[in-house]
Amino acid sequence: MTSVSPHKKAKALKPNSRPPAKELCSECGLCDTYYIHYVKEACAFLNQQIEGLETETHKRSRDLDNENELYFGVHQDMIAARKQQPIEGAQWTGIVSSIAIEMLNRGLVEGVVCVQNTKEDRFQPMPVIARTPEEILAARVNKPTLSPNLSVLEEIEKSGMKRLLVIGVGCQIQALRAVEKQLGLEKLYVLGTPCVDNVTRAGLQKFLETTSRSPETVVHYEFMQDFRVHFKHEDGSTETVPFFGLKTNKLKDVFAPSCMTCFDYVNSLADLVVGYMGAPFGWQWIVVRNDTGKEMLDLVQDQLDTQPVMSQGNRKEAVQQSIPAYDKGVTLPMWAAKLMGVVIERIGPKGLEYGRFSIDSHFTRNYLYVKRNYPEKLEAHVPEFAKRIVGEYKLPE
Ligand code: FAD
Ligand code: SF4
Repeated sequence: MTSVSPHKKAKALKPNSRPPAKELCSECGLCDTYYIHYVKEACAFLNQQIEGLETETHKRSRDLDNENELYFGVHQDMIAARKQQPIEGAQWTGIVSSIAIEMLNRGLVEGVVCVQNTKEDRFQPMPVIARTPEEILAARVNKPTLSPNLSVLEEIEKSGMKRLLVIGVGCQIQALRAVEKQLGLEKLYVLGTPCVDNVTRAGLQKFLETTSRSPETVVHYEFMQDFRVHFKHEDGSTETVPFFGLKTNKLKDVFAPSCMTCFDYVNSLADLVVGYMGAPFGWQWIVVRNDTGKEMLDLVQDQLDTQPVMSQGNRKEAVQQSIPAYDKGVTLPMWAAKLMGVVIERIGPKGLEYGRFSIDSHFTRNYLYVKRNYPEKLEAHVPEFAKRIVGEYKLPE
């Protein structure tokens, strides 16, 4: 007997062939599967449809007149949290891995889509469907490169799994939501992280080589709320480099074109988002978008210290000043960068205001990038919420 597939299939993209979104492709993995059939509608870079998918997923789109929703998307709650016992080697305290493990242990899901790394290269992503806590733990820590998480989607259908958790960043989740109904699942849970300024593996190498004192020993890095990049090295030592001292002239082209045109920093379509940028230094920031997200967070409540989100300072001036600086690729001498970092940290934005600072800086930069490089896409590709945010600033021509 031949089985009849409920959805349409097409031939997956051959390795090294040009993807449908061309240079804007974020290598989300969809086109490595027969779900490439849906690419024109599903690809975040060919068909931006955040607001429509928000309504399908959360039953409403974000309230543009509510500042927190305008910036952070549809939500019912936001908190700052950290694990009482952090997971060794996680990106922050390991809240993402802990939620995934609980969901598997309690039988809420049969598998978890997450991304491990290859044996040869700690930063080379290797998406998997984890079926044990050990496999989830092996995926902890960011692979700070474009990662084809959705390339395992065919395997899910073949395995007959009905209850699934997917961990991923915005562009992956947008494509996933667009094909969700074709996956034949009874329940899909989506645990998202924010994401910005991602790079190809080659781009990552360039970033490490221009920024770190010892690129080959970096195991982990993060752009932190204290306006510094924190690198952690193999020997456990930490190196910090102020944002304002980054060699922007050399790094201008390092970020993937997909990320330079992305306005879904906060992963609008996940059920639950776990990042750091809306929380005080050292804490993680959690956005509960809907009831499914609440169900997921409740599973680990007893493992967390929590506190309400806070907001302090005023980002506007710092954002406005960063616009031409980035545009012209200005790099400050290191002593001035350090000084500026210290001043900004003392008087600058904290908590949710830091989150808004980061969103404003990236949206204004990306808006200019789209306007200059893809003017014909500007109107449809930039979501209404991003247009409102960018509209608060004076942009160069
Ligand atoms: P862990 O328990 O260590 O788990 C990390 C999870 O991330 C793993 O399950 C793994 O499957 C998944 N993952 C790793 N790499 C990738 C990848 N390339 N694509 C998809 N999934 C991946 N938060 C902010 O608040 N602001 C930011 O600007 C920001 N930028 C980010 C950029 C990137 C490229 C990534 C991957 C994440 C970013 N985050 C950002 C999220 C933040 O860095 C942490 O990942 C998050 O707080 C979870 O930490 P954790 O300790 O709970 O995760
Ligand atoms: Fe395909 Fe994803 Fe690339 Fe779009 S971003 S072309 S959906 S692999």
